[in-house]
Amino acid sequence: MAPGWSFTLESVCNDTHIVAHQGVTQASRAMHEAMLASRPVSCPYCGTPFELLVDGSQGSHSTWEDCPRCCAPIQVSVDVAEPDGSVQAVTLARDDDVL
Ligand SMILES: [Zn+2]
Repeated sequence: MAPGWSFTLESVCNDTHIVAHQGVTQASRAMHEAMLASRPVSCPYCGTPFELLVDGSQGSHSTWEDCPRCCAPIQVSVDVAEPDGSVQAVTLARDDDVL
């Protein structure tokens, strides 16, 4: 894993409702619901399909999600079109694909 990532395994993967979410400021909270988009994705480790909620209000960003089945850490890259916040693409990668 690259230095600089502050990723921990404290998530115990007991929540089937997966949300790509890194904290929302109060100012953007009102728009938050409308900016959420559900994307069908599949785990790059075990192939399990699941619905990933991505938050376009954050702009393009990367985050980590645990697979709901195998609990592996999945790197999620979200591409957001500015300025409307619509989610253009969601890319999932394995931890060992990252430099
Ligand atoms: Zn998996």
